[in-house]
Amino acid sequence: MPKQSSAVQATQTEYPPAPPAVEALYRELESEIRRQRPEEDLDPLEKAFRFAAYHHGSQTRRSGEPYMAHPIEVARILTEINMDMPGLQTALLHDVVEDTGVKLEEIRKVFGDQVALIVDGVTKLSKLEAYNAEERQAESYRKMLLAMTTDLRVILVKLADRLHNMRTLQNLPPEKQERIARETLEIYAPIAHRLGMGKVRGELEDLAFRFLEPEASADLMREVESRRHEIEAVLTQVQRTVEEKLKQEGIPARVEGRVKRLYSIYQKMKRQKIGLDQIYDLLALRIITDSVLNCYAALGVIHKEWTPIPGRIKDFIAIPRPNLYRSLHTSVIGPGGHAFEVQIRTEEMHRIAEEGIAAHWKYKEGHKGAGVDEQRIAWLRQLVEWQQEMRAPGDFLSTLKLDLYPEEVCCFTPRGKVIVLPKDATPIDFAYAIHSDVGHACVGAKVNGRIVPLRYALRNGDVVEILTQSGHMPSKDWLSIVKTSRARNKIKHVINAAERARAIEIGAKLLEKEARRMGVSFGRAGKTELERVAAEYGYSKIEDLHAALGYGRFSPRQILQKLVPPAEGAASHAPEAARTPPATPPAAAPAESPEGVVLKVKGADDVLLYRAKCCNPLPGEAIVGYITRGKGVAVHSTNCTNVQSLMYDAERRIEVEWARSPGETFAVRMLVHTDDRPGVLNQLTGILAEEQSNIKNLEAGSDHARGGLAVIDMTVEVKDKKQLERIVSAMRRASGVRDVQRVL
Ligand code: MN
Repeated sequence: MPKQSSAVQATQTEYPPAPPAVEALYRELESEIRRQRPEEDLDPLEKAFRFAAYHHGSQTRRSGEPYMAHPIEVARILTEINMDMPGLQTALLHDVVEDTGVKLEEIRKVFGDQVALIVDGVTKLSKLEAYNAEERQAESYRKMLLAMTTDLRVILVKLADRLHNMRTLQNLPPEKQERIARETLEIYAPIAHRLGMGKVRGELEDLAFRFLEPEASADLMREVESRRHEIEAVLTQVQRTVEEKLKQEGIPARVEGRVKRLYSIYQKMKRQKIGLDQIYDLLALRIITDSVLNCYAALGVIHKEWTPIPGRIKDFIAIPRPNLYRSLHTSVIGPGGHAFEVQIRTEEMHRIAEEGIAAHWKYKEGHKGAGVDEQRIAWLRQLVEWQQEMRAPGDFLSTLKLDLYPEEVCCFTPRGKVIVLPKDATPIDFAYAIHSDVGHACVGAKVNGRIVPLRYALRNGDVVEILTQSGHMPSKDWLSIVKTSRARNKIKHVINAAERARAIEIGAKLLEKEARRMGVSFGRAGKTELERVAAEYGYSKIEDLHAALGYGRFSPRQILQKLVPPAEGAASHAPEAARTPPATPPAAAPAESPEGVVLKVKGADDVLLYRAKCCNPLPGEAIVGYITRGKGVAVHSTNCTNVQSLMYDAERRIEVEWARSPGETFAVRMLVHTDDRPGVLNQLTGILAEEQSNIKNLEAGSDHARGGLAVIDMTVEVKDKKQLERIVSAMRRASGVRDVQRVL
C-alpha cells in the first residue's frame, strides 16, 4: 500500500513492477508513441501507467486478461489521433476512480488539475452507466455534454473507450451486448460523425451492426466475401487505369481502392430496397491529390474515362458538410458494368475526413486552430444550452437523438445555388425560399429532371426546378403541405389579401345597389360622409367599411341610414320588399387571433379577436364580442362583470363563437383552500395529471384569512370549460379540500 500522505511525491519508482504481460503491453504503447513523436518526454505517461497498474492490481476483464490491457489499448487508439499527454494519461487512468478506491483528489494531487478534470469527466460518464434505461442514458449524456464544453478530450477519451469496449464486446452477456451496441449506434457513432471522425464512426457502426443484426450482418459479409475475388479484380484494374490516366494528365495523386463498409452497404440496401448487386458503390476509389484545382481535374479524367451516373456527382468542396467534410463524389459505370464510387480530395481534406476534430488536435499547441474546433462543437454547446432548460432526462435524450440526425435537407437550384430547408420540406417551400413571386406562381416542380408532385419531400442533393405560370395564385391546400413558416406566411398573406379584395369589391357593389334602390344619390353623401360612418364603425378607411359589408358584418341599409338620416333620406319611401339582400356568405375559415386562440365572429373571418383579460373566457363558455376602437374585438364571458357596463353601445356588440380549437390550452388561475396536512397537494396534482393538465405555476402557503388552513395558488392549463369543470369538481371531492375558486 502506498502511503497516502506521500501521494504527492509518488513516482513510478515507488510502485512494484506490473505483471510481465502488462509491462509488455505498456512497452508496446510506449514504443509506438516514441516512433510518432521521438522528442516527447514519456515520463508522465509512465507515471500514469504505474499508478493505474498498481491500483487496478490483479483485476481482470471478462475475457480473463489483465484489466490494464483495456486502458492501455484506449491510450493506443488515442495515439492514432495524436492525443496530447494529459489526454493519454487520462486514457490510462480513466477507470481508476470508477473501479478502484482511488479518490479524484489523489489524481489531482499526483497528476494536476488538468488530468483530474478530464478523468472526472470520463468517470462521471462511466459511473452513470450503472443506472438503467433512458434515465441513465440521458443523465450520462447530459454530463458528457457538459463536460465536453469544458474539455473536448473527455469525449475523445470516451469515444476511444467505447471503441475498445465494442471491439471486445463478445465477452459480455448477450443482453449487455445489445444495449451497448444500440447505444453505440444511436449516440456514439453519430457523435463521432458530427465531430467528423469518419474512421471511428465507421468502425463503431460496423461493430454495432454485427451485434444488433447478427444474421443480416453475417449474410451480408458472406455475400460480399463470395464476390470479393471478382470485386478485387475490378478494383485493381480500375485503380491501375486511374493511376495511369492521372499520370498522363500530370496530376500528382495516390489512389486507394476499398470495398465499402458493411453497415453503410446494409443501410443503403435497406433504404433503397435493393440487392447487393444493385449497390453502386460497393467499390470505392479514393483519389488524394495536392490541390483543389487538381481535384476537379481528376474528376474530369474520371468522367472522360467512364460514364458518370446522373445525380451522383456531389461537390462537398464547394459546399462542405456540416461536419466540415470536403470531397468530390461521383459514381461511374466501370469495366464490365461494375459501378463504383470515387471520392476525390486533397491530403488536408483527407485528414479531416478520417480524423475530424482530431485532425486539428495535433496542431492545437502553437497554432490557432480553435476557429474550426469552435464550429465543430458549436452544436454541442447548443445542446448544452437546451438541456439546461429541460428538466426531464427523457426529454433531453430524445432531443439529443433528434439533433444527432440531420434535420435539414440541402437542395440546389438548376444553377447550383444551395437552398437549405427543414427535413421533409416540399418544392413549394423551395419555391418560396427562392422568392415569394416564384412561390405564388408555382404550378409544378421537377426534381432531378423528373416531374414530382408538389407534396414531394425533398431529399439531400435534389436539384429542384420550379415550374411557374404567371398570374397563378397559391391555394389554401398548400397550407397543409408546406413545412417552412416563410412559405406558410406568404401563402396566408396572399389568400387573406385575395379574400379581402373580393370582400371590398362585393361590399362596394352592395352599397351602390342598395343606394340606388333607396333612391340615395351617392354623390350627395360624398366621400367624407362615408369616411365619417366608417370611423363610427371603428374603421379608418372606407375600404375597410366595404370589406365589412362584403363579409356580411353589416347590411348596406344600416350604413345608408347613417349616411342619410331617415327623416330627410329616401329610405323611408323604400318598399319593405326591397330589403337588403342577404349578405354574401363569408369565406368560412375561422381567424386565428394574435394569441393563437381560435375564435370567430359569426359570419366573418377577418376580424381581429382577443380574449378579454378580465374574464379570460374558456372554450365552451358563453361569450360575447365587443368592438373596441382600433384594437379589434374583445371577447368576454357573458357573465363577466364588466360586460353589462361595457356594452352600453349596442352597435359595438357583436356575436362571436368558439371555433375548433385543436390542442389549444388556456391558462386558468385557481385558489384551492385546503386543510393544512400532508397528502392534499398530492391528490390535487394527481387530479391534474389524470386530466393531462399542465401546471404552469403552483404556490402553497398558509391561509391567513382562515386560520389553520392552507391555500394553494395554482395556474393550470385547460382545454375548455368542460375540462375545468371536471377538474374543479374532482378537487372539491378530494378529502381535505374546503373550497376551489377560479381567479378572474
Ligand atoms: Mn473504460
